This record gives sequence, structure tokens and C-alpha cells, in this order.
Amino acid sequence: MARYLITGGAGFIGSHLCESFLKQGHHVVCMDNYSTGAAENIAGFTAHPGFTFVDHNVSRYIEVQEPLDYVLHFASPASPVDYLELPIPTLKVGALGTHNTLGLAKAKKAVYLLASTSEVYGDPLVRPQSEEYWGNVNPIGPRGVYDEAKRFAEAMTMAYHRYHGLDTRIVRIFNTYGPRMRMRDGRVVPNFISQALKGEPLTVYGQGQQTRSFQYVDDLVAGIHKLLAADHHLPVNIGNPHEMTVLEFAKKIIEITGSKSTIVYKPLPEDDPQVRQPDITKAKKLLGWEPIVALEEGLAKTIDYVRAKLKEQKQ
Ligand code: UDP
Repeated sequence: MARYLITGGAGFIGSHLCESFLKQGHHVVCMDNYSTGAAENIAGFTAHPGFTFVDHNVSRYIEVQEPLDYVLHFASPASPVDYLELPIPTLKVGALGTHNTLGLAKAKKAVYLLASTSEVYGDPLVRPQSEEYWGNVNPIGPRGVYDEAKRFAEAMTMAYHRYHGLDTRIVRIFNTYGPRMRMRDGRVVPNFISQALKGEPLTVYGQGQQTRSFQYVDDLVAGIHKLLAADHHLPVNIGNPHEMTVLEFAKKIIEITGSKSTIVYKPLPEDDPQVRQPDITKAKKLLGWEPIVALEEGLAKTIDYVRAKLKEQKQ
């Protein structure tokens, strides 16, 4: 039985991670300030005897009394709409929050895992993106607050590994979806599904020719568990290589939901990456991991979740 600290533990991915470690019989300290996380995400296991919640902004000094075996840093606004609304907290949690969590892991002699992102590749000039690619990021564009904070976070994590000998991991997470995504976070999955279920037009940005590759959250959680067990300190991509255009994705959602919604075109946000597809050769070889949840299967579960949320909102 080990003790895990998960920052951003009340967020979409963080809450699934908390749940997965509790299920394995571990202790979980979930730290969140509900900036973009939500109490309802953890409501199903707050009463679990192995679970502790701490309301704290990790950009400030972190105090934890008990021993820790693992520190997983997942706190950050993570949708383009959120980090445009919260540019300075996004920079702070990626920079100061990473520094504080690394310092905590060092003091506790814990294994450290940084949640990084495919955004470190920016608007990539190569496809698919492998870990060797250094990226094409606009540092001063609207997405720069997230992209550069995460790039700094990776640099800081590698420095703690090289200089202090901290046992670190870096996971580069590609577009992930599933239950507990915030309905109003502006991302394409909750937007399209709720629009389709409400019979409203699906808002495709630009011509919808930009591509994304969507992975179901359970696949990501499995990849993170495997990465924690591996002795590897350089970044590892975890994502689903099944790539499609945003327009194809909109049509898929209309088809699966059986919706009568139409499609409307809206302006493409600044610096919106034109392509995104993970090269997962490394994860396959190193971790023996690859995604196993089919898009239709994952979407069915996500659609059920969104449907239930919309019902709640009506009541
Ligand atoms: N997008 C869209 N309509 C929406 C929301 C997003 O066409 O209502 C597009 C967006 O421009 C981007 C892709 O869908 O090309 C994925 O956007 P998301 O916000 O989910 O995250 P990103 O992958 O850009 O970080």
C-alpha cells in the first residue's frame, strides 16, 4: 500500500486517477482549489477511508505532514477556453506549482510524475509527433500561457532529476475525453455532444480540417500506471493515434447521438494546431501500452454522462 498525492485531483483526469489508486488499495491525498475542478467529481469516493481531500492552491507553498511515496502533478486549467480566462494562474501552476510539487517530492523522497501535454509541440510541423520533436510554439500567443508553462515544467522536472537525482516521470497527454469533463470548459468533446443532444448546431471552428486524435480516459489512466512502474525519465506520449478532422468528428457525434443537429462554422481560434497525432512507438516498446477503447465505446459512455448532466441542469 502506497501514499499518493494528486494535485488537481478533483479535475477530470485527476479524479479518475484518484479513483484508480483507491481501487488498488492505496492511500490518496487529493489536492485541489476547485479552480476548474469540482467536488462532484470526487463525491463518489470522498467517504473512502483511504481518501483525504486538501483544499489548496499548489502555486503556493505546500505543506503535507504525512509521508508520501508518489507526487503526481495534474493541477492546471487544461482547456483553451479556461487558460484564456485564467492566463496568469495557468502560468503560475505550471511554473510555481511544478516547483512546489517537485520540492515536496524531494523532501518526501517520493517518485514524481508531471502531467505534460501534446501542447508542448505547439502547431506541429511534423506528423505524427514523436517525443524527439521539439515543437513549434508561439510563446506570446493566447495559448502560450499553457504551452510555455508546461515546457518550463518539463525543464524543471528534468533539472530536479539531473541535479537532485529525483525519480521523475513526464507524461505528454494528448486529447483525452470521458465522463467528468466540465460541460462548459469549451472543449470540442463536451461542446459537440451537448450541442447534439440539445439539437443545437455543432460549432465547427475554421473549416474543420484541423485534426485531433481522441483517447478515452481509461486508456490514459492505464498508461500512467505503467509509466509510474517504468524506470524512465524522459517524456512519453500517451494518446490514441486514431486521427480525424474536427469536421469528421462533428459528423460522428451527430451520427452516434442520432441527432438532427446541423453544423455551423465559426472563426478558427488563434494558433489552433492544424494537426495532432501522437507517435506512440515509445509507449508501446517501453511500457507495453497502447489504447484499447474504441472511439464508439468511449463516446457512448461520455454521451451517457453528458445526457445525465443536461438532465440535472434542467431540474
Ligand atoms: N473546436 C471546434 N468547435 C468547438 C470546440 C473546439 O471546432 O466547439 C475545435 C478547436 O478549434 C480545435 C479542436 O476542436 O481544433 C479541439 O479543440 P479543444 O478545445 O477540444 O482542444 P485542443 O485540442 O485545441 O487543445
